[in-house]
Amino acid sequence: MRTMIHGSGAAAAANARGEILMKKDELRKTVERGIGGVPEIKASEKKKWLGEFRERVILGLTVKQCSSECSLHYVREALKDAMAEKLIVNNGMSINTISKFMKLADEMEKNFISRPAQCDNAMGVVISSSVAVDRGNVDLEFGELPIKFIKLEKGKLCNDCFLELEKIKVKHARNFGRITLLDKILGTKCVACAKENSYKFE
Ligand SMILES: [Zn+2]
Repeated sequence: MRTMIHGSGAAAAANARGEILMKKDELRKTVERGIGGVPEIKASEKKKWLGEFRERVILGLTVKQCSSECSLHYVREALKDAMAEKLIVNNGMSINTISKFMKLADEMEKNFISRPAQCDNAMGVVISSSVAVDRGNVDLEFGELPIKFIKLEKGKLCNDCFLELEKIKVKHARNFGRITLLDKILGTKCVACAKENSYKFE
């Protein structure tokens, strides 16, 4: 391997040559990647996605997210995806957690697979296809915030919900109004409670 020469005058040509060398080097790297690099990246990627290729993943939930009740809602939504074929669970999770996903897979008539975690960051549940679907964001961001507040931007909240949200996210709570007596008479419902109920009755 030749090294690049930095400096003035004559060095500029060397620099230009250096760039060509860099390109060759890039080419070499690319070739190497093609031979051995990519499979290696794919292998660690597959460990995270419970044995699936990232490009085939529709949704992934962490182990922590899986213990939350609202995980079922998200998994059900993902299974409605026409490309969704299988639900894979990390068999290191509790029997209770695993069985709720097992029932859901059965209900939605999708394949259910249980696999051992092969790395620390292995997901808890993965919904995948047998072909590449290349979905952008397959991770879900929920945890701290109760599901009834997720993706809720504005509206009116009942007193309980308002205080609950205010405790977690003061600034965010300011986007919402509190239901007044007049609102109640007019039949205005708390947007968070309404959302919560819609999950319960699914
Ligand atoms: Zn409420």
